[in-house]
Order: sequence, then C-alpha cells, then structure tokens
Amino acid sequence: MARERLYLFDTTLRDGAQTNGVDFTLADKLAIAGMLDDLGIDYVEGGYPGANPTDTELFGKDRKFDTTFTAFGMTRRPGRSASNDPGLAALLEAKADAICFVAKAWDYHVRVALETTDEENIASIRDSVKAAKAKGREVLLDCEHFFDGYKANPKYALACAKAAYDEGARWVVLCDTNGGTLPHEVEAIVGAVCKVIPGDHVGIHAHNDTEQAVANSFAAVRAGARQIQGTLNGLGERCGNANLVSIIPTLKLKPEFSEKFDINVSAGALKKLAQVSHTLDERLNRGSNRHAPYVGESAFATKAGIHASAIMKDPATYEHTTPEAVGNRRKVLVSEQAGKSNILAELERIGIKADKDDPRIGRLLEIVKEREAIGYAYEAADASFELLARRTLGTVPNYFNVTQFDVNVEQRNNAKGERVTVTMAVVKVKVGDDNMISAAEGNGPVNALDLALRKDLGKYQKYIAGLSLTDYRVRILNSGTEAVTRVLIESEDEAGERWTTIGVSPNIIDASFQALMDSIVYKLVKSGAPA
Ligand SMILES: [Zn+2]
Repeated sequence: MARERLYLFDTTLRDGAQTNGVDFTLADKLAIAGMLDDLGIDYVEGGYPGANPTDTELFGKDRKFDTTFTAFGMTRRPGRSASNDPGLAALLEAKADAICFVAKAWDYHVRVALETTDEENIASIRDSVKAAKAKGREVLLDCEHFFDGYKANPKYALACAKAAYDEGARWVVLCDTNGGTLPHEVEAIVGAVCKVIPGDHVGIHAHNDTEQAVANSFAAVRAGARQIQGTLNGLGERCGNANLVSIIPTLKLKPEFSEKFDINVSAGALKKLAQVSHTLDERLNRGSNRHAPYVGESAFATKAGIHASAIMKDPATYEHTTPEAVGNRRKVLVSEQAGKSNILAELERIGIKADKDDPRIGRLLEIVKEREAIGYAYEAADASFELLARRTLGTVPNYFNVTQFDVNVEQRNNAKGERVTVTMAVVKVKVGDDNMISAAEGNGPVNALDLALRKDLGKYQKYIAGLSLTDYRVRILNSGTEAVTRVLIESEDEAGERWTTIGVSPNIIDASFQALMDSIVYKLVKSGAPA
C-alpha cells in the first residue's frame, strides 16, 4: 500500500499565545519557530500581523526557515470589498509563505456574531482566498465552529468549506472551536466532508475541552483528514489545543499510523522532542508536566520492586515504547547504560568525540545527575552542558579568574530630591599575571555585574566584544528543604549565534554570576581563544 503524506501545522505562536499567562516576545517567537523548524513541522503559524506590534514586527522580517511560515487573519469584513479592507491588506502585505484565514462555518454565528447573511459570509471566503492566491500565497481556511455548525446545518457548514476549496485553498481546516465534540462524532463528520473535499486538502484543529483533542485529531485522520493542527505541550486558551508533543511520537511509533503515513519529522528529530518540550516550558518560566506522555520526567519512571526487576530483564515488559525514541530517559536506572548513552548522544550532537568506555563519561553522568537534583536543567542550557562536558574531559583552559566581586545597591535621594536606586559593581579579575579592576553602574545588580565583568578581560577582550545578553530568566525552585534560584541567560554573538547558560544558587546574584561566567567562557572556547 502506498504511504500517504500527513502534514503537521503548529499554532503555538498564535492559538497557543492565547494561553492565560503566556506572553511571547519577538525573541521568544523567533526561538520557538526555530525549534519547530528544526523539528520538521510543515507549517508554523507565527501570529496575526496587524493585530499587535509583536506580530506585525515578526511578519515584517525576512526569515530563513524551511517550514511554511504562516500568517493568520480574518477574511474580508462583510459589506466591504477585498481591496477596501485594511485588515486584509495588512495580512496580504505580511512576509509570509502562507495565509490562514479564519471564517465562520456555523450559520448561527454568521447571523448573531457577524450580523450578516449566509451568502455574504461565503462571498467573503471566496474573495479572501482569491485575493491571497493572487498575491502568490498558499491559502488555508480555518472553518471556525465547524463541528457545531455541521450539527446545526450540515449543508451550510459544508458550503463554507467547499467555497474555499473551489477557490483554490490548499487546505480547509475543520475547527472544533468550543472543544466539545467527541471522537466518534469527529470521525463521522470528517468522513462526510471527505466525500465532498478530498482528504488530502482537509485538516483538523481540535481543542481539548473534553481532554480528547489528541484523540479527535487521530479520529479525523482515520476518517481521511491529512493535516493536523496543534501546539507544543498543548498550549492554548481554556484547556488548550491538541498537543503535538503527544501526537508526533504516536504518528512515528505506533504501527497504526507509522505504517500508513509519512511525516516530515525524522527519527533523529524525534529524539529532540523531550528537549523541545522542556525548553518551551523554561521559556515560559513554568515547570514541566512530570506526567506528560512520552516526554514527562515520570513517563518512563517505574517504582522499584517487581516492575524494576522485570524492566531489568526486558524494558518492553513495562514500557509501551522506548524513552530514547523521544529523547526521554528511563527513571529506574537499571544500569548506568541508559544515562550513559544519553550523555554520549548529547556529546556527539555538540561535536565532542568521546569513547564510551572512558571513565570520565561515567563521572560526567554523575555530575549531571547531582546537579540536576539541585536544580540545574541542562536540557535548557546547551552551552553550560557543553562547558561542563569539556571541563570534565579536561579541554577548557583556565582563561581568567574572578578573584573578588562586590555589588552594591543603594537607595537615596538625588540632587533633585527624588528617590533613586543606584547599583554599582566592582570586579577583580586575574588574567595571566595581570590583575584588573573594573567597575560599572547598572540598572540592577545583575546588569551592573555583567557590565563590570565584560568591561576589561585584557587579552581576551577582543573575543567578547560582540557578545550581548538577549534574555535573562529567573525561577525560584522549591527543591527539598529550601528555595533555590535558577537563572537562565541567553547570549548572542556578532554572528547572530545564540546560546543559553545556567546558574543555580540560593542567592540570585551567585546564580546570575555563574550563568554570566559560563556565557563568557563558552564564547572564548567557541572563538578558539588561546589559553
Ligand atoms: Zn483554536
């Protein structure tokens, strides 16, 4: 039987951005889009250009992604022509490979929310698809409330979808906007749609209000749909969208799907899935769900006892798939083998040659485990992991030593009698035989420390001149008896390369200092600075 292509569409940056408490910056959006692109997601919906400054800026930039970068927006407003609608014009001007329009597919909503006629709504769909096609864009139509609309008036819901398809939309996406439709209903309705519109032009967009968004997505595929829309970690308003982090491994690893369908996510990329999921949580400054299928810390954790000894004989006895396939780890460490192979895979990924029998690999694994137990998260801090590995393997020169630092925060009245807070840092650094002192004022203790530290590194200064900090994130962790602070710092160099470093300490300044030091040393290593 010929294998069919199944397409994945990620809307973390658009629908996922509706999540309570989630507010993506432009840098967040670009970084997340980059992860999705590396993963092999076919479509990345970046946002809604014209609706807010971040999205407008995002779609004003040129990007180098392989994914089809997609802009979201409304079809033309009722009663206006396509050429006389500023919202539609902004969407057509956006630098996007594809445009995903959203339109009503429920006659009740057309009357009550849009306050227009059924015919005018369909005309708006036709005109908008036509206008985007004329601009050379690939076009998708999200049929809002499709399932509820179909139940109320199947003829009209289908007519909306068909109108877009007939005008040349590549995809007609059936949305369960309220998230209340059940899998058997989805299967029946998608099956009916696929009799009118070929399934390789039909997508599913499921919300998780009955905790069946993933099941509904698979039900749609079984009925003929060939595009799945979802988000990383199931982000999305209310109860979230279909979770691509659960959908992708099921498609790749379960014969029901893997024998019938090809997706653009490779087996190699699948091994990065746990890291992608956890990195997103770090970026959102929230803890990862320990019990998340496939990628959660507990997904392959088994309590000691009979299960553990059975696992020792053969992991397949208590696991539905292997943790390594999705980049996760087995939690009852049967042997050091599982952890060691993760470390070796990671070293290979960052280009460090290592022999699996080298005792230093076992030592590195021990250090990583000890540090992760006290709050380090190396998955989210690639550069700190690389430094730790290189240090353990003995290949990082001791470029410089900070012999002392001092940070002073003072609140006082200035000359105008206003209350001001002034921060000053002094750093003593020894480079070779040279002792240097630098001082800097900053808009906070970490900023002052960073500026003082990078002010004068003697012969190494030229290597760090192009270094800048692009993000700084702090989290308080309650691990065990006392709270500790985890700091993640993202840096960028003159070539636009980015890396993340980590520090953990009960003291926020210490944690920040560790992360700053790692960032500088990483840059020196990367630049090949001489010892
Ligand atoms: Zn949605």
